[in-house]
Amino acid sequence: MAAGEVLDTAALIAWPLERMRGSLVVPSQRAELSRISPDREIMLDAAALEWASPGSAAIARASGLATTTGDMAGLSPVDLELLALAIERAATLATDDYRLQNLCELGGVPWLSVTMEGISSLWSWELRCTGCGAVLPSPDTPSSRRELGNCSDCGSTLKLSRKRD
Ligand SMILES: [Zn+2]
Repeated sequence: MAAGEVLDTAALIAWPLERMRGSLVVPSQRAELSRISPDREIMLDAAALEWASPGSAAIARASGLATTTGDMAGLSPVDLELLALAIERAATLATDDYRLQNLCELGGVPWLSVTMEGISSLWSWELRCTGCGAVLPSPDTPSSRRELGNCSDCGSTLKLSRKRD
C-alpha cells in the first residue's frame, strides 16, 4: 500500500482507481480534470482521495525551488501546489512533468513517474548561464537543495536547462 503519494493529473487519468486509493491531490485539479476528462472526474469519488491544499510555507518553499532552477515560468499553479503538498507531507510526487521531476530532485523530494520512464532516460541537464550563455558541467547528484551559483565569466545567475542527447 503506497503511503503518502501526491498524484499529478496524469496519474489521476491513467492509474486504476485502486492504485490511487488514499493518495493526496489538490482541489484545483478537479477543475483541470473536468476540463480534460469529465468522465474520469466523476469516477474519482470512488477512489477515496485526500483533497488537501498546501500551506503558505510549503508554497513559498516550492516557489523558491522553482525560482532557483528557472522552472517557475513553465509551472502551472496546479503544478506548484502539487510540489508544495509533496514537500509539506513528506510525500512522493507521482508526475511525468520533467520540470516537477527536476524540482523534486533538487528539493530532495522523492518522485516516481506515472507512465514514462522519467527524466534520467529522456533528458540530460546542463548548467547554463542566464547572462552570457556559457555552459558548465551539470551537477551529477542534484539530490539536495543547493545554490546553483553564478557564472565565473560574467557573474549572472546559472540555471539548469534540459538537453537532448
Ligand atoms: Zn555568464
